[in-house]
Amino acid sequence: MTLAVGGLGGLAYYTYLTRSGASAPLPSAFKPDDFVNLPLKQIVPYNHNTSTFVFELPQQTSSKLPVASCLVVRASDPEALTSNGSPVVRPYTPVSTADKTGELRLLIKRYETGVMSKYIHSLKVGDTLQVKGPIPKFPYNENEFDQVALIGGGSGITPLYQVLTHALSSPFNTTKFKLLYSNVTEEDILLRENLDALAKKHPKNLEVVYLLDKPLPSWKGPTGFINTDIIKKYVAPPTAERTMVMVCGPPGQMAALAGKKAGMKQGPLGGILKELGYTEEQRYGTASWHDSTNS
Ligand SMILES: Cc1cc2nc3c(=O)[nH]c(=O)nc-3n(C[C@H](O)[C@H](O)[C@H](O)COP(=O)(O)OP(=O)(O)OC[C@H]3O[C@@H](n4cnc5c(N)ncnc54)[C@H](O)[C@@H]3O)c2cc1C
Repeated sequence: MTLAVGGLGGLAYYTYLTRSGASAPLPSAFKPDDFVNLPLKQIVPYNHNTSTFVFELPQQTSSKLPVASCLVVRASDPEALTSNGSPVVRPYTPVSTADKTGELRLLIKRYETGVMSKYIHSLKVGDTLQVKGPIPKFPYNENEFDQVALIGGGSGITPLYQVLTHALSSPFNTTKFKLLYSNVTEEDILLRENLDALAKKHPKNLEVVYLLDKPLPSWKGPTGFINTDIIKKYVAPPTAERTMVMVCGPPGQMAALAGKKAGMKQGPLGGILKELGYTEEQRYGTASWHDSTNS
């Protein structure tokens, strides 16, 4: 497995279709080369800065997103949001599964000075957003790894959650996952109920560790940034066979753990993982920031 964001493994896609349980695969709601307009049907507040935006998919379609991949979005009026004369485009990973028919759920954190996140948070039920995809990220193949560490921060949880829900939904999964998920405060932890429920359902295959930068005194879990000691404590060593580390967080966390971005893509392995001896092949990283702006 390399770092390069490559094409989709045919096996992964096949697994997806068969796992949907449908006798005949339903068509995808999306096209890789064209944006489709999706009406917003519901907004479900999650916390002080994050909400789930539920979009309506055409009847009898689902996202059919291969794992791992994301979608890109832009304003329905191409002139509403522009940068240097081109429409602003940002990637998002749905929190609804690939075979969920009729709707698409995006969990979106609002940044005060964020162009797209602020725009989406200003949408009203009945408004539309343009969506295109899939944008392949990492071809996940069942049981390719014995152990996978998922390290994330803030809204970087959604690509990791996509991998987890997909992998753990299979009765044949043997991979053991360890999720290290850092946030500023307890109320910033996204998808906590879902993650806790997954860990409870799969105690042998998933352990979730939440870390907080600024916890209240009552917080019993680990605190501070994810550092060398935390990695050594929770992640399988680089000498362990069939081990993978996936990292998805804000730019500072990515640089400290796995190396800086190079242009729009994640750059060569660096940071703590490199110091500890992990190899390029053992790391997949995607900054939770947009790595494609205008496309
Ligand atoms: C694969 C993938 C999946 C994603 N999935 C989700 C998701 O499910 N939910 C979600 O909420 N987000 C997700 N994101 C992040 C999302 O694409 C946007 O980056 C995010 O919404 C911010 O976009 P914006 O236009 O609002 O902010 P921007 O206008 O781009 O900037 C937001 C703020 O960040 C600052 N900023 C921008 N770039 C940097 C930088 N490189 N370093 C430091 N500060 C910076 C800006 O100054 C501003 O204050 C995902 C990103 C990727 C790559």
